Amino acid sequence: MTNIGRAAGYSYIGRCKCGEMVTAVVDNPERPREVARLVGNWLRDGLTIERVTHDVVRSSFSHCRCAEQEKADKAALQPSLFSMEDAS
Ligand SMILES: [Zn+2]
Repeated sequence: MTNIGRAAGYSYIGRCKCGEMVTAVVDNPERPREVARLVGNWLRDGLTIERVTHDVVRSSFSHCRCAEQEKADKAALQPSLFSMEDAS
């Protein structure tokens, strides 16, 4: 028997720079190399790694909001870009 899915277990999660939990893997003691490889990939992708309970994963798993934030940033920048064009 394994303990996968047990409420007391832990998962590693990857948090994007936008602050959202965008990926997760069960900290499976029977597959340490697989878990380490995944977490290593996330680190290379620039994610912040945290070790949390399964309950946290279930309640907080989300999706990346970088695209939405970029859109909002661009919208905020637009007026100043236009005024710079007008001045030249
Ligand atoms: Zn993001």
